[in-house]
Amino acid sequence: VCPTAALRERSHAKEVVNALNDKKKFTVVQVAPAVRATLGEEYNLPIGTNVTGKIITGLRRLGFDKVFDTNFGADLTILEEATELINRLGNGGVTPMFTSCCPGWIKFAEQNYPHLLEHLSTCKSPHEMEGAIIKSYYAKKMGLNPEDIFVVSIMPCTVKKFEASRPELSEDKMPDVDAVLTTRELVRLFKVAGIDFNDLPDDEFDNPLGESTGAAAIFGTSGGVMEAALRTAYFKLSGKELENVDLTNVRGFDGVKEFSVDINGSTVNVAVVNGIGNVRGILEQIERGESKYHFIEVMACPGGCINGGGQPIHQKPEKVQKRARALYEIDAKMKNRKSHENESLKKLYNEFLGEPNGHLSHELLHTTYVNRKNILEEL
Ligand code: SF4
Repeated sequence: VCPTAALRERSHAKEVVNALNDKKKFTVVQVAPAVRATLGEEYNLPIGTNVTGKIITGLRRLGFDKVFDTNFGADLTILEEATELINRLGNGGVTPMFTSCCPGWIKFAEQNYPHLLEHLSTCKSPHEMEGAIIKSYYAKKMGLNPEDIFVVSIMPCTVKKFEASRPELSEDKMPDVDAVLTTRELVRLFKVAGIDFNDLPDDEFDNPLGESTGAAAIFGTSGGVMEAALRTAYFKLSGKELENVDLTNVRGFDGVKEFSVDINGSTVNVAVVNGIGNVRGILEQIERGESKYHFIEVMACPGGCINGGGQPIHQKPEKVQKRARALYEIDAKMKNRKSHENESLKKLYNEFLGEPNGHLSHELLHTTYVNRKNILEEL
């Protein structure tokens, strides 16, 4: 069960099926990093089996026009977030800066610590960035009317439904993402459509928004966003590539993991908060003016998105570890393991966005937050 505020979870399956049956709609689906390491469990495959190829084929059989990878959006998030961190550190901006890709954490901060919202990165989460790019850059490239595009996100998370409905995540009242299906909901759809998942052959994501690096793959586990961000921040600050990209200090399932990295003679202190129950102490340090950190990752679900509220249900921690291992194996096998090495991403900046944190990036890829202290007024 989702630990944070998924009070109004509702299936978007009907909207998705209607869009797939609507000839006027150009339907695009994207798949979150954590889904590929868990969905196979619903078909009795060993825990931690990477079923990316079968998911892509299954989505094509459902009738989607394009199947993209949220991992592209994760690489994009890293470029934007690492740049934002460097800018904050360089110009005396508000630090420590928190990651912003977990809507469970964002909503918790909005409800309980609205006075600290300026500590949150302004970056949209990966699937929201991907949606915004599909409806702008990709639409332009393909000569499509953005209003005819229907973007579906396959997510490990129930709170992503709430996130997709936030007015701050729309351009001119057009949402970046039109519908969210959880891992379990996608399995239900496959079953209703009579798709025999275990018999599906493997296929590959469409491009250009299907290319990704190993850094994006590990977004789905606790510490992954931090590790990915440090791989790129190190390069951007020092002009040199990290010799060993496996930052094992931020891996694992401790409640709070700490790490310091020396970049060009300056020490950057980071923390990774694993599970929303562990964040209050960190926030109280900031309130007292005693925080030693520069950058903090928070994922609401213990273990990260591999253990999200929309994933196949189980109780055993060793299963979560196997899921995490699957993501680290995907990363280790990739030719490119740093987000700034993604060739399609470089092209996106060259052809369209300009530079990370530039004018267009701010317009399309960054967001604002809301004081939700009086949550009852929302109900
Ligand atoms: Fe959703 Fe992942 Fe955050 Fe859990 S950790 S609330 S699955 S984004």
